[in-house]
Amino acid sequence: MEKIIETRSPEETFRLGEQFGKAASPGMVVTLCGDLGAGKTVFTQGVASGLGITGPVTSPTFTILQIYEEGRMPFYHFDVYRIGDPEEMEEIGYEDCFFGQGISLVEWADLIPELIPEEAVRILIRRDPEKGFDYRKITITAP
Ligand code: ADP
Ligand code: MG
Repeated sequence: MEKIIETRSPEETFRLGEQFGKAASPGMVVTLCGDLGAGKTVFTQGVASGLGITGPVTSPTFTILQIYEEGRMPFYHFDVYRIGDPEEMEEIGYEDCFFGQGISLVEWADLIPELIPEEAVRILIRRDPEKGFDYRKITITAP
């Protein structure tokens, strides 16, 4: 299944993430790819809101993993932008997240392709300079 959604503001991308979070089921792994500033974290903040998480959600760039427990299910937010070696994922116990009862969301997942399960839902966010500064084309692919 492939779905393409166009957004024209951060709020729209947030709301898309929120719908996604509301529909999410335990055990899901979601990958988010796209350039720096594409809107991966904005989408992620929407997902968190859709799960019922009310606190602030920021990119865990320096910790790789941030865990939120106050929502409908555990939310594991990875940002692997600064990962040096996939072994770091083992060290933080990613398997307990990916194969547990929460939802895992991975920003910059293309840096660790070998660790992403085949059943993952893949989300790609792209800009198009011809369509304006706030335009984003969001492609969601589920196996
Ligand atoms: P990433 O996590 O992909 O590096 P962020 O989500 O942190 O990117 O930042 C996206 C930036 O782009 C924010 O400053 C946001 O306000 C801006 N922006 C503009 N238009 C959009 C849009 N349609 N969707 C998401 N973000 C947008
Ligand atoms: Mg980010």
